[in-house]
Parts: sequence; C-alpha cells; structure tokens
Amino acid sequence: MPANPASASSPSAPAAAPARETALHGALSRQSEFGFRVGSRLSEACPASAAQVADNGGEFLGRTGTITTPHGEIRTPAFIAVGTKATVKAVLPESMAGLGAQALLANAYHLYLQPGADILDEAGGLGAFMNWSGPTFTDSGGFQVMSLGSGFKKVIDMKSVDASGPDDAVAPGKERLAHIDDDGVWFKSHLNGDRHRFSPEISMQVQHQIGADIMFAFDELTTLQNSRGYQEESLERTRLWAERCIAEHFRLTDSRAGKPYQALFGVIQGAQYEDLRRKACRDLGAMPFDGFGIGGALEKENLGTIVRWCNEELPEDKPRHLLGISEPDDIFTAIENGADTFDCVSPTRVARNSAFYTPQGRFNLSGAKYKRDFGPLQDGCDCYTCTHYSRAYIHHLFKAKEMLSATLISIHNERFVVKMVDDARLAIESGTFFEFKAETLGRYYS
Ligand SMILES: [Zn+2]
Repeated sequence: MPANPASASSPSAPAAAPARETALHGALSRQSEFGFRVGSRLSEACPASAAQVADNGGEFLGRTGTITTPHGEIRTPAFIAVGTKATVKAVLPESMAGLGAQALLANAYHLYLQPGADILDEAGGLGAFMNWSGPTFTDSGGFQVMSLGSGFKKVIDMKSVDASGPDDAVAPGKERLAHIDDDGVWFKSHLNGDRHRFSPEISMQVQHQIGADIMFAFDELTTLQNSRGYQEESLERTRLWAERCIAEHFRLTDSRAGKPYQALFGVIQGAQYEDLRRKACRDLGAMPFDGFGIGGALEKENLGTIVRWCNEELPEDKPRHLLGISEPDDIFTAIENGADTFDCVSPTRVARNSAFYTPQGRFNLSGAKYKRDFGPLQDGCDCYTCTHYSRAYIHHLFKAKEMLSATLISIHNERFVVKMVDDARLAIESGTFFEFKAETLGRYYS
C-alpha cells in the first residue's frame, strides 16, 4: 500500500485531518485521468547476449509505452523538448508540433520569477499561454534554485567525483544565493537579487498555477562534491519534502477541481551511491506518485548504471523521466536502461552557436567552407529547414548575426533528436534496437 500522504508533517501546511482525508480521496480518484501503459519490453523484443547484459551491468529494462495526459498521449521513449521560459528558444510552438515534438518542458523557477505563476493561471495554464495544445511538463525549480544559487552550472559541477570538498562549495567568484534548511530554500533572484522562498508547498502551488500536465516534486539537488554524510542528510530531506509535496498536491487537486488533472512525479536523488539511489526509489516508489524523475548528480560514465539501479526498484507500471541529458549516446543509454522520457536543452543551445546535428556527427556552420554550400543541413532530412533552406543561406545569416539562423538550425536540431528517439522506439518494437544503436552511434562518433 502507498504511504498515506496525510501523515506527512508540515509546519507550513497544518490542515485538519478530516479535510486532508477528503482531499486525499478526491485527488486519488482523479489520478485515473493520467495513465501509463507499457508496450514492448526491450528484453523480450530484442533479446541481448550474455556479454551485452554483462557489459551493461544487468538486464536491459528499456520498454516502449504510452503516457496519457489531459492534453494528449506521449508515445515513449520520447524526447521532451525544453521551453524553459514557456518558449523553445527561437522556435514557434507550431514549428515544434510540425517537427513531431510530442511534449514540452518548462521551468517553474523561471516562470515564477517572470512573468509570475498567477499570470499563467489566468491565461488558462502553460499550454494555453504559449499556444501549445499538446502535453506539458514543469520541473520543480529546485535545480535552478540550487544550481544558480551556488553559482555552478550543472556541467562544471558534475565533472569530477571529489567528495572531499566543503558541502557549501560555491563557484569561484560567485556569491552563494541559495540557503537550504529543512523547511525549504531562501534564494535570491538571478534577475534582480530579490529574496524569495521556495518550499515543497510553494513549489506545488506555483506548479499548479502554471498548470502543466506533469509536475515534479520539490527536491534538494546535491553535487558530486558533497560528502557522503551530506548526501544522506539531503536524501532524507528530499524524502520528507516528497511527502509534503504529495499532501499539498492532493489539497490543490481537490480545491482546483475544475482544472485538468496534473500528474506529480517524485524525484530520485542519491548522487553516485547505489544504496542511496535504491533507498530513494523504495521510499518514493511506495508513495502515490504518478511517475518518477531521476535527477541530480550524474556522471556520464555512470549514467546507465544509475538509471538501471533506479528502474530495478521503481514500480514498473509508472513512467520514469530522466532529467536533463545532452548527447546522442546518453539518449541510447537512458532508453535501454528504462527511461521513458528525457529532456535536453542542447538542440537549441548549440544551434545558437551555429552547430547542427547530422547522422555523421555535429558540425559548425560558421566555417568558410559553407559559404557556397547550397545543399541542406542534412541530406534527406524532412524538416522545414532542410526542405526550404541551404547551408550557404544559414551560414550567411549566422555571419550577419541575423536571428533567423538560430531559428532555422534549432528546427533542424530538434527534428534530428525527436526523430532519432522515434526511430529508437520503432526499433524496439521491430526487434532491431541494438543494431539500430550500433549503426547510429557508430556513424555519429566515427
Ligand atoms: Zn533538417
């Protein structure tokens, strides 16, 4: 049986027990408005050799499936495009739909600061506000509160495993902007320095106002530099926050009964420690979450192992989202170890620096050799950019500092990743996943 979220203690949300019971039953009855159905299992559709399983460190837990939300279905594995501030940078939502994106992920921290979650609520929610009719996600804001707060960007922070440093490490030359206590986090806005408070309850209130179909519980992000002792302390804090998120989520679901049901995913932390990851999965897996996010400190080399540890423990009938990955090989690692969805800012981020993906790898369009190259970014690509514009034209736009270059390259890069994940899904179903992976990565990294 799931833990009873009504037993969660919360200093900032003291509600009478009967009212909580009512909210619990009302919200639980609405959980059926969100669903997940497993399709083909990788281990059955594409049996792996003993050597492949040994190399992976364990059985392959990948699968296909379908997530059902009030704004439509997501066929998984699915790439979730990132629209941090309710926009995929430089790309129209109509273009995202046209290139096959199934869902978009925005960020609660950024939208809370600007324009304010109440504005999105009045607009009818994130999708209505940005003219996107499909499913939407918001992440809880915890990552931004804490990573921007310590002045670290994720990549710098996660590069090396050195747990010997101080637990309050701050990036060189930066002021610590976030302070964590058991009840929540004080942080300064990266926009204007104003002081703000986030807690599990506030994160839930903000995310309910933003109105995405899938939300994430508020968690503490640790880094690989934190000590083992701090990781344990933090994991317990995230567990208590998860209970408080569920209680507040149920209360809000009940009090906002006219709104579409919003699913809540618990977030698994535990850094690089197997016992902590597994414990987090058992603790949160027993709570009535609709799905799970795998988050926090992940080294590229351990990505598959950590995802597999988590998915060996998490309930099989609920979807799992891997928070924030970047490269094509990471995507295959995530898929074969059982991540159903994952998000990534890379396609638009690198596009703004004129980098474009092709099956033969990533190239940069700023080079002089593209000046008279009148072919498409990628031969045979079906995207709007490749069917209408040349490398020479986009090279010119980039050199002339015209904004349209970012738009055209972003459309192509988003299409490239969306299609690669779609093809991986089809390959699982047709029993050819491992051949498809070897061929795709062999060509991309050759
Ligand atoms: Zn293209």
